Amino acid sequence: MEWVLASGNQKKLKELTDILAPLGVTVRPQSDFAVPEAEETGLTFVENAILKARNAAHHTGLPAISDDSGLEVDALNGAPGIYSARFAGAGASDADNNRKLTESLREMPNASRRARYQCVIVFMRHADDPVPVICQGSWEGEIQMTPTGEGGFGYDPHFFVPEAGCSAAEMCAHDKHRLSHRGKALSQFMTIAKARLIDAANTN
Ligand code: IMP
Repeated sequence: MEWVLASGNQKKLKELTDILAPLGVTVRPQSDFAVPEAEETGLTFVENAILKARNAAHHTGLPAISDDSGLEVDALNGAPGIYSARFAGAGASDADNNRKLTESLREMPNASRRARYQCVIVFMRHADDPVPVICQGSWEGEIQMTPTGEGGFGYDPHFFVPEAGCSAAEMCAHDKHRLSHRGKALSQFMTIAKARLIDAANTN
């Protein structure tokens, strides 16, 4: 069985394929099929994840799985939120976004540094699937002004995880998967997917 992964983010792709490996399904990135990027016009992670999965399923004819995720910072009223990938503008790099994040917080030295990552995973059997599987996970942390660590991606060097005593970029992939927003959403998804695959195998 083959699924398409509706993401162009290589680092995210690696995290997702590692976690999904036990399903025994071949998960191929949408870039293998030259799928054009979906326009993320939704106002929620859920809407954007559905738009991405539907777009990938439509262009490939395969079941599609998508991830829409981002960082919510309390002192910034939840920003960058759904705009996390383009916080510093269209085509912004991780470094640009991290600079904008720390500059915004530097202007409010006494404000809370509380933040969380949010992740929504959507699975659609086909582009017209009226009942997408929707799973969600969040991960609490604090924004640290000085980056630490070389791992992960995006805002990870600035995302301090109190329960681990280090930044997300200092964690090995295994530990990040165990605690992260994406790991939690995917673990819900794995439970649902395994049950469905078993049902499908039993009815064939
Ligand atoms: P998306 O690809 O439109 O869902 O954008 C997600 C953006 O949120 C990424 O480009 C990162 O900036 C941020 N983000 C989401 N998950 C993570 C994570 O696990 N670590 C660091 N940044 C993340």
